[in-house]
Amino acid sequence: MYVHRSLNGDPMDTPVGKVVCVGRNYHAHVKELNNTVPKKPLLFMKPSNAMVPFSDPISFPAELGACHYETEIALLIGRAVYPRDLQSDNFDFKRHIAGVGVAIDLTLRDLQTAFKKKGYPWELAKAFDGACPLTSFVPLDEIESLGDLTVKLKINGELVQKGSVSDMMTSMEALIQYIATYFTLNAGDVVLTGTPEGVGPLESEQVLKAFLYCGNDELLSAQTTVL
Ligand code: ZN
Repeated sequence: MYVHRSLNGDPMDTPVGKVVCVGRNYHAHVKELNNTVPKKPLLFMKPSNAMVPFSDPISFPAELGACHYETEIALLIGRAVYPRDLQSDNFDFKRHIAGVGVAIDLTLRDLQTAFKKKGYPWELAKAFDGACPLTSFVPLDEIESLGDLTVKLKINGELVQKGSVSDMMTSMEALIQYIATYFTLNAGDVVLTGTPEGVGPLESEQVLKAFLYCGNDELLSAQTTVL
C-alpha cells in the first residue's frame, strides 16, 4: 500500500489523504490544449487510491483511450489548513507544508475531452487507481527557496516538460489559501500545482525520469517505466 516517503525512502508519519489538483496554471499549457485562461484556479481532486510510488511501472486503462502524462510539483501538507486559519494575519503557508515532491497527474485525455465538451466533471479521467505516481518528498528545511523550484520530465532521455514556480499563474501560497477557502486541507493531503506545457500520450515501454531542482541544484530524481 502507498505511504508518503521522505527522501531517504523512510515512511513519513503523515497519513495518506486526498490529492487536490489545479488545472491550467501555466499559460503555455493552457494554449497547447486550446483551453481558456480561468479567472480563478480550476480545482479537481483525485482520491487516495490514485497515489502510487513513482517507481511502480505505470499502468492505465488503455481501452479508454490516450493517457497523458502531466508532470507537476507536489506539496505534501504536514499541518492542516483550516478555512479559519486564513483569517489570521500571521498565516504562514510554509508552516503547513511538510515537503515537496514530483507527481504525474495521469489523465485519460480522450475521456476528459469528451467530458469537457458536455460540461461534465472530469473525475473519471483523473481518478483511476494509480493515476497519481508520487516521488518521495524533500523536507521543506532542505529547500533554500520555494520560489526557485523547477520540475522536469525526460522520456527516453529526451526533455519533454520543464516548468518553474515563477511561471505559475497562481502561486503555491495563493493556491493553498484558495483551496482552504472552500475546504480543509488535512495533514497527509497532497496539492498538485499544475503542469507546464509538453504533455503527451504515454506509450508502452517508455522510460520516464522526473527531476526537481532548486535553482541549479538537483533536489531529487525518480524513474519509472510504462507497462
Ligand atoms: Zn494536471
